[in-house]
Amino acid sequence: KTISERTARVRDQFLAFALPDVDEHEIDAVAETIRSGWITTGAKTRQFEADFAAFVGAKHAVAVNSCTAAMHLALEAVGIRAGDEVITTPYTFAATGEVIRYFDAKPVLVDVEPKYLNIDPGQIEQAITPRTRAIIPVHLAGYPAEMDAIMEIARRRRLWVIEDAAHSLPTAYKGRNIGTIGDATCFSFYATKPLTTGEGGMICTDRDDVADRCRIMSLHGISRDAWKRYTAEGSWFYEVIAPGFKYNLTDVAAAMGLAQLAKVQRMNARRAVIAARFMAAFSSAPQLQPPPGGEPGNTHAWHLYMLRLHLGELNIDRAQFVEELKERKIGVSVHFIPLHVHPYYRETFGYQPDDFPVAHGEYLREISLPIYSKMSDADVQDVIDAVLNVTAAHRR
Ligand SMILES: *Cc1c(COP(=O)(O)O)cnc(C)c1O
Repeated sequence: KTISERTARVRDQFLAFALPDVDEHEIDAVAETIRSGWITTGAKTRQFEADFAAFVGAKHAVAVNSCTAAMHLALEAVGIRAGDEVITTPYTFAATGEVIRYFDAKPVLVDVEPKYLNIDPGQIEQAITPRTRAIIPVHLAGYPAEMDAIMEIARRRRLWVIEDAAHSLPTAYKGRNIGTIGDATCFSFYATKPLTTGEGGMICTDRDDVADRCRIMSLHGISRDAWKRYTAEGSWFYEVIAPGFKYNLTDVAAAMGLAQLAKVQRMNARRAVIAARFMAAFSSAPQLQPPPGGEPGNTHAWHLYMLRLHLGELNIDRAQFVEELKERKIGVSVHFIPLHVHPYYRETFGYQPDDFPVAHGEYLREISLPIYSKMSDADVQDVIDAVLNVTAAHRR
């Protein structure tokens, strides 16, 4: 059958770009927690932290209500102050840059390497100044940044490394889990992320001082948390040691997180199967550049499937390609509009699109395809057919 014959049939229902993989286990766990009477931070949250730390292999895990909160707390814990500089990638979501601005510190962007679109370690050193305090690598799509090179620079130049691992559960770098390498690693449990609690996040660290500070600042800067205060083993006494934040995770969310953690490997395995099917389908089309398979020892969380178009081989641009997929009832997205292209960063720091040519150029030709464990084999085939059909209809 030709491509166009295969796609003569358009789906009846629109295929969502992303859907959480939740079932009766999450529903039962949440219902049980609500019935227990203890619905905010408590035993379920402590259990989720312990199980998450064990899963990642980190000494500490501190549960919070978003990855944005996790990164804010981690930067606070390592002492970021107004006027400091923090190096990060432009190829990321708004959260990575905004947490630096919370301190009135300056995000110093470093372009990405073209293969995986992670921060280019070869360009970090020239961005370091006497004010530089930290580096925030992002493991884009769930594929690890070059952590050996990043850690070597950071240790030699005495910089903190706070990892944005919003996409990266589970991800390994040279056989080591993400969550065990930098000074602190921040995970997201937002609705579309590889493990979801609706909203939620986690800070993993091997440092006792960072974990303690994050825990205290996640709940008003109070030296003991509500659970200890109000249970029999606790007391009414507490002390405020700093003006903290309200970033704690609820037990309702943690109950969902525990159910999700129990199947995170299965969900990841399913996404890897989908990625392999996409790779087999797209690798021979000269108009398409599938994401690379990865280096030995590294694993991919496949949070995103970032397809790149060879626009010179097509007679439509990326925006039209997206529209054509939508017409075929396939939900797609674009990751990411680089930070330096957004009005806030342009106006505040005077950035031009060409300042980070790899990030900007790759953004212009990127489309993220649906990749989630709830997709059926027929859904996967529909995505493949739609992409190949649009490609065939618009090749030069
Ligand atoms: C989703 C995301 C975040 C923010 O996560 P929240 O849990 O929604 O705060 C941070 N960084 C990246 C790269 C993300 O994709």
